[in-house]
Amino acid sequence: MDKLAFTGTIISIQPRIRLARSFDEASHTYLGYAIKLDGELDGEKTVFSIGIGKAAHAKHQFKVNDTISGECVPVPDLDMEPVEYYKVSKLKVISTGEQGSSSSPWELVPPELEVYRERGHRRLAARTYDTKCSSCMWGCRMPVEIIVDNWNPRGKKKHRFETFCYGPLNCQLYKAGPNRKVEGRNGMVYVEEDWVDQMAVEHRGEDE
Ligand code: SF4
Repeated sequence: MDKLAFTGTIISIQPRIRLARSFDEASHTYLGYAIKLDGELDGEKTVFSIGIGKAAHAKHQFKVNDTISGECVPVPDLDMEPVEYYKVSKLKVISTGEQGSSSSPWELVPPELEVYRERGHRRLAARTYDTKCSSCMWGCRMPVEIIVDNWNPRGKKKHRFETFCYGPLNCQLYKAGPNRKVEGRNGMVYVEEDWVDQMAVEHRGEDE
């Protein structure tokens, strides 16, 4: 497949993480970073998103307002990725932009993926993510694959997106939104109660 050339200014960079759910179990796949760009893709002005690996971010230390260029290909299965384009090559920084917001929403250079794993996340209301958190390095919009029959992992799967916050527990913009529900076998439904989030972040202080 021909690669598409792009240039654009970063308007969001967040971790690129996929979530697998099987009733009350959840596991993460750390894919890299999801970058939203305002620029030009294949000669057309547009806003679009690309996925990069952790090595590329470790090298370039991208952040909001940096302008970059490269080549990419469309993601074949948009249920499995938080971005529209991936397999990025010829990645270059054209200019380093001004520092964005240094409090919520945090527009700094996102840390290594291990930092996100160690911090743990809380669910984040989809509307709050869309209106307040889309440029925050602690926000994350994950593609979710649900294995409906947890006794048959190769069976029926469902897909959706969920939004999460890895940021400081005292962020004033945070809103949890409704508890997440996961469909299981024979019409059973698992409701992820608040204690799941509390346990995931209990090792952090209020301002961490
Ligand atoms: S709620 Fe979380 S993702 Fe949103 S601005 Fe605050 S720290 Fe960032």
